[in-house]
Amino acid sequence: MNILVLGAGQLARMMSLAGAPLNIGVLSYDVGSGQLLHPLTRHVFDQTLVQAIADSDAITAEFEHIPDEVLSQCEASGKFYPGKQAVKVGGDRALEKALLEQAGVPCAAYQLITERAHLDLAIAVLGFPLVIKTCQAGYDGKGQWRLYAEADVATVWAQVAAFLAADALHSIIAERMVPFQREVSVIGVRDRLGNIAIYPVTENEHVNGVLTLSLAKAIEGEIHQQAVEAFSRLASALDYIGVMAIEFFDVDGQLIVNEIAPRVHNSGHWTQQGTLCCQFENHLRAVAGLPLGSTEAIGPSAMINVLGQASIPAEVLSVANVTSHWYGKACRPGRKMGHINMVAGSEALLGEKLLALSAFLPGESYPGVAQRGGELMRE
Ligand code: ATP
Ligand code: MG
Repeated sequence: MNILVLGAGQLARMMSLAGAPLNIGVLSYDVGSGQLLHPLTRHVFDQTLVQAIADSDAITAEFEHIPDEVLSQCEASGKFYPGKQAVKVGGDRALEKALLEQAGVPCAAYQLITERAHLDLAIAVLGFPLVIKTCQAGYDGKGQWRLYAEADVATVWAQVAAFLAADALHSIIAERMVPFQREVSVIGVRDRLGNIAIYPVTENEHVNGVLTLSLAKAIEGEIHQQAVEAFSRLASALDYIGVMAIEFFDVDGQLIVNEIAPRVHNSGHWTQQGTLCCQFENHLRAVAGLPLGSTEAIGPSAMINVLGQASIPAEVLSVANVTSHWYGKACRPGRKMGHINMVAGSEALLGEKLLALSAFLPGESYPGVAQRGGELMRE
């Protein structure tokens, strides 16, 4: 079976790795260069997108920022999962907010902004502090501004206006800054028959808008229930097929959606060691029309992102049940280069592992590892 993935980054690479045992071959379409290549070996095939679409059994995407004509071309084949609409919604905060409202899933209060007067309205309706976000172009906290007081408005607006002027297609939203206690996410999968399977809720830490650490421990039943409810509503509203991730803010035990990713997600990388069927395999199974695999956790798990580091100390791998996953990318400051996964028999043992790792992973580059390790051991 052949699956064509729109995108040629680490997510396609990990789909390729997960597909091999199932005898599923993954081919990447690099949207930037227009090349078709093997997501692991990077071998470039002398093939057109039209041929690749014709040769594939199913088509999927590893990111949202894909030209409309490519999405339409894939959609027309009848083999594209989760399909054009889901990818469009995930890539545009305005469409995403509209979907959340339609599905009755709570999200941060917001106002759309296309001119200066809308910002004043947003300030009047939502109050300070505000987070201003580009609707179409953001990732890893890019394309965002924080607005704390009237005194910052002119400076922030100048930056926003420059951004809007640079590309007529861009629009902006202002969101109320949510006073959350923590950020969590849920990764779920829906197959072609409408069956749903959901992984345990993950607690995520971000620094400057970038995910640094995920913890999958036994999260309170009520939080899990809210996450399952949100997933079910959104997946049925989109008639979704494949893996979808939902990021939430936890405000006093109430989950408020931050954003949706119509794809496998960084906060689900722990499932590679923490479950018997990881998010990449389940996504392939869903889009290929195969039965879903178990989403049950083997034990409490964690994932640490390797950001802007070309290597990690070898001692990391001396800690039991710790694995490293590299993406084969050139190193640049802050770039997602790989991740470290671990699974343990209990939360206290997971804490011990994190503490052991913190001896090899400096806190400036790997924030939160020592602290979360200590907390897990005390809990
Ligand atoms: P991703 O790479 O996850 O797609 P992104 O650039 O699309 O990231 P968001 O997830 O919207 O952006 O924001 C990045 C981070 O900024 C969030 O994880 C959260 O920590 C913070 N943040 C975003 N919106 C808000 C908000 N309304 N209130 C408080 N914090 C926020
Ligand atoms: Mg995010």
